[in-house]
Amino acid sequence: MENNEKTQCKDHARCMELLQLILDGEASESEKEYYYAHMEKCMPCYKEHDLESAIRRVLKTNIEKKEVPADLINCIKSKIKETV
Ligand SMILES: [Zn+2]
Repeated sequence: MENNEKTQCKDHARCMELLQLILDGEASESEKEYYYAHMEKCMPCYKEHDLESAIRRVLKTNIEKKEVPADLINCIKSKIKETV
């Protein structure tokens, strides 16, 4: 039972909205606190946070270099999927 709770998010759509706000730096302190606390218990949201922040780092670096990072993003995605 406990395992099932950790691998499934009951409110994933809302979590993803929140995650975007956090990564865009637009979330309030309480929203951030909520997500980080939630992330500890919710494996999909933890993974999503990991993935999204990795993608953002890659995008940022590559935008500076003016390159299209599609391959790199796919690479990160498949790596993270392997660990799920
Ligand atoms: Zn969640």
